[in-house]
Amino acid sequence: MEIVASHHPPVPSPPPATSRWQEALKRAVRDPGQLCEMLQLPAACRDSAQRAARDFPLFVPLEFIRRMRPGDPHDPLLRQVLPLSQELDSVPGYLADPVDDAAAVRQPGLLQKYPGRNLIVTTSTCAVHCRYCFRRHFNQNGPPRTLGDAQAACDQIARDPMIQEVVLSGGDPWTLPDARLAALISQLESGPHLQRLRIHTRLPIMIPQRVTDQLVACLKNTRLTCVVVIHANHAAELDQDVAQALARLVDAGIPVLNQSVLLQGVNDTPEALIALSLRLIALRVLPYYLHQLDQVAGAAHFYVPPERGCALIATMRAQLPGYAVPRYVREQPGRASKTVLA
Ligand SMILES: *Cc1c(COP(=O)(O)O)cnc(C)c1O
Ligand code: SF4
Repeated sequence: MEIVASHHPPVPSPPPATSRWQEALKRAVRDPGQLCEMLQLPAACRDSAQRAARDFPLFVPLEFIRRMRPGDPHDPLLRQVLPLSQELDSVPGYLADPVDDAAAVRQPGLLQKYPGRNLIVTTSTCAVHCRYCFRRHFNQNGPPRTLGDAQAACDQIARDPMIQEVVLSGGDPWTLPDARLAALISQLESGPHLQRLRIHTRLPIMIPQRVTDQLVACLKNTRLTCVVVIHANHAAELDQDVAQALARLVDAGIPVLNQSVLLQGVNDTPEALIALSLRLIALRVLPYYLHQLDQVAGAAHFYVPPERGCALIATMRAQLPGYAVPRYVREQPGRASKTVLA
């Protein structure tokens, strides 16, 4: 734009110190009492939440809370994030590291479980604390698990001609600032045989403002083929703001897939799973995986038996087009891929 009548050069507005999505992370609710008050939940919920949050803190953005029904302790979005006193019960068979990540470590933050692809634990930070997460004991187990030396990890990938794909995971890689992401991607690009970059993120669901033009440009500008895998468990998570964020990715030609976890009291009915798949398809997102719960200590109340999971998939298959039915999988240590249950 030309400024004709001014004697002064135009003053560029300084870039904001933190962007809107970073502000949203700062405003996220950490206090169980505050969450229960916002949603008008009974005092018993608050007391239980306060006890369980000492073990694994509550963390949930306002943008996600706004999609919950006030006054409903059983709301499927709330259930994913609200600490419950049951988490403190010790249940046989529920472990701190159920997927045995320790056995897959190539170096701190670099995992290989499956041929041809490596997973980078970019950060331990997430935009939400999901109560069922197998990483809930992440920081209590000995040495740090996030990427120690990005250069060393990228060099190792570059030296290994078998690696065609890198999965950026975490924590959530999109909690990293754009500059860090761009630097990591350009380090990875130097490996000539690397073809694909996959990003596993819940940010487009939790804080849809994260999907900025700059972020999309970052994915478009790399020579690597990018695939984004989001994580939504219930159709009510996918409101209009999320729809717009996903449209920015899809319109840029980036394939977007969804993975869910089968969770008791959240999505363990045919109605909930079918509504989720149909909403995803309407947003041009393909259902990829429905995960059987990892049996992590504190998450036993989310368990759905695999036979019931298989029956749910059969019901979906009978009603939906094939591309709307996710693969129902479980992670079993030592296998060459995830195990398909249905
Ligand atoms: C799940 C997972 C992957 C990706 O597996 P896909 O079946 O290709 O989605 C890669 N690395 C690790 C360590 C994983 O746990
Ligand atoms: S966003 Fe993913 S890694 Fe983070 S707490 Fe939730 S399930 Fe776990």
